[in-house]
Amino acid sequence: MDYSAVVDVHQKPQNHEVQIFESREGARIAQLPLNAFPDFWVYAYLVLVDDICVLIDTGSGFHENNQHLEEGFRDAGDLLGEPIEFSDLTHVLITHGHIDHYGGLPFVRQKSKALIGVHELDQHNLTHTEERLAITATRLERYLAEAGLGTETSQELVQIYKMTKLNYQPQKVDFTYEAVDMQLGPLTMLHVPGHCAGQVVIRLHDVLFSGDHVLSKISPHQAPERLSLFTGLNHYLQSLEATQSWSEGIQLSLGGHNPPVTDLKQRIREIQDIHKERLAEFLEILKEPHTIAEISKTYFGETHGYNIILALEEAGAHIEYLYERGQLEIANLDEVESGGGLAPICYKALSPA
Ligand SMILES: [Zn+2]
Ligand SMILES: [Zn+2]
Repeated sequence: MDYSAVVDVHQKPQNHEVQIFESREGARIAQLPLNAFPDFWVYAYLVLVDDICVLIDTGSGFHENNQHLEEGFRDAGDLLGEPIEFSDLTHVLITHGHIDHYGGLPFVRQKSKALIGVHELDQHNLTHTEERLAITATRLERYLAEAGLGTETSQELVQIYKMTKLNYQPQKVDFTYEAVDMQLGPLTMLHVPGHCAGQVVIRLHDVLFSGDHVLSKISPHQAPERLSLFTGLNHYLQSLEATQSWSEGIQLSLGGHNPPVTDLKQRIREIQDIHKERLAEFLEILKEPHTIAEISKTYFGETHGYNIILALEEAGAHIEYLYERGQLEIANLDEVESGGGLAPICYKALSPA
């Protein structure tokens, strides 16, 4: 069982130090490791190119994150031989609207006048966080009921879901990517919905900043689209295809977690295979009828805390994909029809004709 693929194992990087990279045309890049939550690390990137100074992602704003951002700026300055201050930043580009990537914005904004950019589809996550949270939590609660969890467990999980986002102060966004034609100086963006609705990858010369779209050690987390439009496995797989053709000539791909990817095309193929295999294995398990909660447990094993939600979402994304393509049927339709939207749904693979 590919347990690591669902549980976000973003442990401390082996080399917990700022690393410097350079693009083919001489842009300088500093990778800043941030301890965003206990046992959960994320990277932000400081990019110096032409006359702009860009911070790509900000980490979570929690735990040791902001202290690590400050130390990262200092160490990057030392390594590059010129001090870099927050006040030097011209832009902050957010790769996608997940809290471990944008939660540091209030801290950065206090110290800098940099313009903040994000994709249209994730703008609300930054500016109307409470609203987004409330809507998704409502959908999640209903989803968990249909997945086959009891009311009490569902409510506990919804509380856990809300908890990580409570302290964030909404921030104004200065520009969205489509409004600037997906370009900022030499940086170009490609919209790759799936892991998150407004996920982008950002290209600079022969370097790609991949956010959470492509990671080297885990397959990026998937959730069913019914929880949030423009997510879901179908968008994700299409976005992987789009990235393959858009990334010609990329030598180095720097993600939001995990070590860099040097063979992007190969890594994309591996991730595609992980999902193909998982879909096939789910069809096998579903020769007997099961709820999403049962499949999640069978496939990913026992999980705890936030990882229970991640496993249920990952399983649900694959079930949704199969169901929408007519490969599954509902085995307990009577129950579902009389259940007022709260009955667990049992899925079963359609036997080949
Ligand atoms: Zn993410
Ligand atoms: Zn992330």
